[in-house]
Amino acid sequence: MNKEQIDFVGDNHISTSIDTPMRVDAFDKTDEIKIKNIEHYFSKIMEELGLDLSDDSLSGTPYRVAKMYIKELFYGLNPKHKPKISTFENKYGYHKMLVERNITIDSSCEHHFLPIVGHTHIGYVPKKKVVGLSKINRLVDYYAHRPQVQERLCLQILRDLQDTLETKDVIVIINAKHLCVSSRGIKDKSSFTTTIEFGGCFGDTAFRNEFLKLVNSENIV
Ligand SMILES: [Zn+2]
Repeated sequence: MNKEQIDFVGDNHISTSIDTPMRVDAFDKTDEIKIKNIEHYFSKIMEELGLDLSDDSLSGTPYRVAKMYIKELFYGLNPKHKPKISTFENKYGYHKMLVERNITIDSSCEHHFLPIVGHTHIGYVPKKKVVGLSKINRLVDYYAHRPQVQERLCLQILRDLQDTLETKDVIVIINAKHLCVSSRGIKDKSSFTTTIEFGGCFGDTAFRNEFLKLVNSENIV
């Protein structure tokens, strides 16, 4: 891609696939080796910016950034960090909508490596399987902690929950602020991006509206 195409993809946040594009050798190296390598390359970026790395305040930054990338921001790239989602039989026969609201989204934009912060609301109608509520939060956390595009994040969560719960009746809505929109580019401080993906019964407007009504209702706890 030339520089113009690179800017176009970034500013329009175009994603190419549902799966995060990964190299086949993505996990050949240990985390420790990756941290060492990123530390080296990030120190070069800082030097290129003209920063004096012998300063006590800056000298540890390349290591801190490297550790942050591997251990704190992007651990969701590695499938071994995928939370184990155990399901239970829906013994009490709950077949109405279950909604989990205001799950925190802490992610990063894959086009600029800047934060995406917001919330997601998830609903599903159980068939034979149910999951522990905190497992939904853990799944969201896992997919958010990789370089992302909001639309893909929405789809990855939806697809996983549909597989885990063995039903298409799942809906995911994400409301998020992109720092690459607020701090650079158009520099819009107040705009949010909303994405919504659903399957099964949520294709029905009445179901979708019931979900949205619950999401928008006042907190009563
Ligand atoms: Zn971006």
